[in-house]
Amino acid sequence: MNTHQYIELEHRYSAHNYHPLPVVLSRGEGPYVWDVEGKRYLDFLSGYSAVNQGHCHPRLVNALVEQASKLTLTSRAFHSDKLGVYAEFITQYFGYDKVLPMNTGVEAVETAIKITRKWGYEVKGIPDGQAKIVVCEHNFHGRTSTVISFSSDPTARTHFGPYMPGFITIPYNDAAALEEALQDDTVAGFLVEPIQGEAGVVVPEDGYLAKCKSLCEQHRVLFMADEIQTGLARTGKMLACDHERVRPDVLILGKALSGGLLPISAVLADEEVMDCIHPGEHGSTFGGNPLACVVAMEALKVLREERLAERAAELGELFRSELRTMNHPLISLVRGKGLLNAIVINDPDPDAAWNLCLRMKEGGLLAKPTHGDKIRLAPTLVITREQILNATDILYTSLGAK
Ligand code: PLP
Repeated sequence: MNTHQYIELEHRYSAHNYHPLPVVLSRGEGPYVWDVEGKRYLDFLSGYSAVNQGHCHPRLVNALVEQASKLTLTSRAFHSDKLGVYAEFITQYFGYDKVLPMNTGVEAVETAIKITRKWGYEVKGIPDGQAKIVVCEHNFHGRTSTVISFSSDPTARTHFGPYMPGFITIPYNDAAALEEALQDDTVAGFLVEPIQGEAGVVVPEDGYLAKCKSLCEQHRVLFMADEIQTGLARTGKMLACDHERVRPDVLILGKALSGGLLPISAVLADEEVMDCIHPGEHGSTFGGNPLACVVAMEALKVLREERLAERAAELGELFRSELRTMNHPLISLVRGKGLLNAIVINDPDPDAAWNLCLRMKEGGLLAKPTHGDKIRLAPTLVITREQILNATDILYTSLGAK
């Protein structure tokens, strides 16, 4: 089958809940992917930052294959010989008392919300049914009915109501707004992305996270960091909160926790919070399965041993400086941290960013617009200096070709 036929097949039988670029991929290795016609591309989406370790990292593939032939799933009805080892490993890695393992990112967000509400009732003493969570405008935390209830994106919300109550929305990057919201003593948590990824890589001003954390401490509110996209070396530190030396009370991880091999997510917290959860109150058939435990440990080891955070920091500087020196009239803004970056396209044509991505694809560079005029540029963290320069060349040529 050729590209056209694969796309037709997908269109015919799969729900139309995405609008992909017309490229059909069949292989990946490190920073590259190949389409079914054999053309090679630099992947600058990286599975929305799930593939930080590069495609099909051999250590991850080996860990997966070896464990897959031994034991893949026990459910949590029984213990496995991997969960305790993984729990010790990940809690020590991030410095928390306990972990609650889940699968997808949004499940981890849901988990964090449930844990925070439970803590609000059982530890903070909020009257039952009244706990609130403060969230930020233009957030993206996933797609479940609870999570879209506090989205400000009409596409995510329209005709999916009724919506879950108990959320207060404030502007992002506005600590004063948080301070005001925290006057309500039924607030249990503040849920925030350290950089808003889907919104177009919106980086808050320096000090915002630290200020919010300190406000949360003053008001006895849990600071819940959604590091699903920003975490795990992507922004040049292991966690984006590390840039401001902020230790979240509830840390939410996903995506690169598996290096893209399977859905693995986790919530980390200390005992005061995590011990609010008792048997039967929360869980998932696949959460904490032995295959996931082994892959996640290897994924975390690779991040550290290959110094991918340091690499992201260094190459991110290079990349942004290359983009800025291009000084192209079609790029109105370059922003980001580490290797989580975006350009804002300066063109009244609403399809300009999409069309640019099509030209970049022709040149061998894959990225996708987010929210119309922004293109997120997030390569795998194993990319080299030369490959970054190659990508900027392709981008430049694609811009010029307009
Ligand atoms: N939170 C953030 C910050 C994300 O970027 C995403 C996915 O893009 C999610 C949550 C949801 O993760 P998943 O798609 O694995 O449910």
